[in-house]
Amino acid sequence: MTLVARPMGPVPPGFAAIDGELAIGGARARDLVARAGGAPLFVYDAGMIAARIAAWRQAMPTGLGLHYAVKANPFAPLLAFMAARVDGFDIASGGELAAVLAAGVAGPRIGFAGPGKRGADIVAAIAAGATLHVESVHEADRALAAGEAAGIAPRLAIRVNPDFELAGAGMRMGGGARPFGVDAEQVPALARRLVAAGADWRGFHVYAGSQSLDARAIIASQAATLDLVARLADTAGVGVPLCNLGGGFGVPYVHGQVPLDVGAVGAGLGEALDRRAGVLGDTRFVLELGRWLVAEAGVYLAEVIDRKHSRGETFLVIDGGLHHQLAASGNFGSVIRRNYPCAIATRFAAPVDDVAHVVGCLCTPLDRIGDALALPRAEPGDLVAVFCAGAYGASASPAAFLGHGPAREVLIGQD
Ligand SMILES: *Cc1c(COP(=O)(O)O)cnc(C)c1O
Repeated sequence: MTLVARPMGPVPPGFAAIDGELAIGGARARDLVARAGGAPLFVYDAGMIAARIAAWRQAMPTGLGLHYAVKANPFAPLLAFMAARVDGFDIASGGELAAVLAAGVAGPRIGFAGPGKRGADIVAAIAAGATLHVESVHEADRALAAGEAAGIAPRLAIRVNPDFELAGAGMRMGGGARPFGVDAEQVPALARRLVAAGADWRGFHVYAGSQSLDARAIIASQAATLDLVARLADTAGVGVPLCNLGGGFGVPYVHGQVPLDVGAVGAGLGEALDRRAGVLGDTRFVLELGRWLVAEAGVYLAEVIDRKHSRGETFLVIDGGLHHQLAASGNFGSVIRRNYPCAIATRFAAPVDDVAHVVGCLCTPLDRIGDALALPRAEPGDLVAVFCAGAYGASASPAAFLGHGPAREVLIGQD
């Protein structure tokens, strides 16, 4: 054993062993794979997602709305499960609009953000009664024209590019020059114009960034957002029926990251809402969350095909890889590749006595899922589990690359 182990991220809470084997939602990994027809398989535990939603409602101020950001995981059974449990859905394409409508979500519960909305998507969203979050002045004009052509007053909100950033966010989407949102300084004039044009004016959407584990940064960003929105509404002389405060709640993926203190965020937001400006007195506030709701509820299971040795190092070659779980390979927006939490699902309770690289079956050196992991010794036929796979997994990976085909997906425990 010449290979020195490198750390991996924390296995999320809630996973136990049954007879030494990883159990998800009370079912053994091997049984789940057999029932689904084989590996590789994404398993999403609905019970864990429901617990997340309950914890969120417990931590947040009463009356705050929860929207699910479909981008994180658009698996159809998961959307249907969410439809009965969250207050709204945030989408960013015509395809996501169709998926959410198919899950039985009514148009007025849908918010459509995203740059570069295509004409047909704008028309479909207006016809469905969804709220368009316009991202530019030109897009606002296109939405007004589409509404006029359809004889419908379009439900319109403005996504604001704020004059601040969410500090400590893994991915920044606000502040400075951005493709997202209308620069704050242009917003009052545009809001006045939308109201004057007869739009069904909904309010503002501010999204500062993603994957933050820093409660203080999120609290500061939410307080700054409330100030900004009040200032914009006052300057424009318009009301604010709805204010989407963004989200950005992160989860720990790699060694050293600690879970976000959601209780602190809820308390901070409660205080900020209590002292909000009068112009926001009747506003309905929502947060939009993707990964925090679903990431840790998902496990990617793949089978070990080969155990090979090369110059003193051991490689576990699995029948999946970055074409299903790109983020774990470090190629989805990470600067430095660090290990996601992994385990040998079929030896979940066995002693750790080996160090191995876990690599995918794609013929590219990019396809490394775990680098020098300390694991129980695994053999071909064992199952590898990659945790934190419930968000930005199957739908955010290049499934067509190299022709191995997509992974299976299953939602379990929905009752
Ligand atoms: C990506 C995105 C989200 C979801 O981000 P998470 O990190 O998954 O919570 C929410 N809102 C907008 C506008 C987004 O672009």
